[in-house]
Amino acid sequence: MDERVEVIHGDITKVEVDAIVNAANSSLLGGGGVDGAIHRAGGPAILAECIKIREKQGGCPTGEAVITTAGRLPAKYVFHTVGPVWRGGEKDEPRLLANCYRNSLALAVKNAVKTIAFPNISTGVYRFPKELAAEIALKTVAAFLQENQQIKKVYFVCFDGENYELYLRKIDELKARA
Ligand code: ADP
Repeated sequence: MDERVEVIHGDITKVEVDAIVNAANSSLLGGGGVDGAIHRAGGPAILAECIKIREKQGGCPTGEAVITTAGRLPAKYVFHTVGPVWRGGEKDEPRLLANCYRNSLALAVKNAVKTIAFPNISTGVYRFPKELAAEIALKTVAAFLQENQQIKKVYFVCFDGENYELYLRKIDELKARA
């Protein structure tokens, strides 16, 4: 696994990085889980920019990402990406989840972001199986970093203990295989 990848057990709104990624929904109007936490901690400036983006492009499709201010958060930007809802695995969910990570990293490159933090996209109310989600997240980010030197640090911020343990184990497995 790339040395620039780090796993944290905690709350993404507290992480000091250039950009944090939000697991938003396609309306961009806020929701529960990590989305609610980011809007609560970051204040109304984030929603105001989300509303502007909605007016311009009508929300955010699954797998895509958009950028706003981070308001009062210790980050510079929030990247809002929309994870797929798990519908059994035959609806292109794995590719769409990989797109969330890839498109967020592409936004990072475009905006000179060097440090970025991801939540465990889709593994809350969207019910994506956690182990498969972790594997996709780690492999997609590792593949992107291989082709990119601008990004200096990628944090996977695991809020729940189950995801945290999973990420640590998956990283060990990927290292053993490398
Ligand atoms: P989704 O709709 O994409 O499933 P959720 O917000 O329901 O989004 O869950 C995504 C992940 O975010 C879950 O693993 C959940 O434990 C985690 N999460 C919830 N609050 C926070 C937070 N403050 N910081 C980081 N991760 C969080």
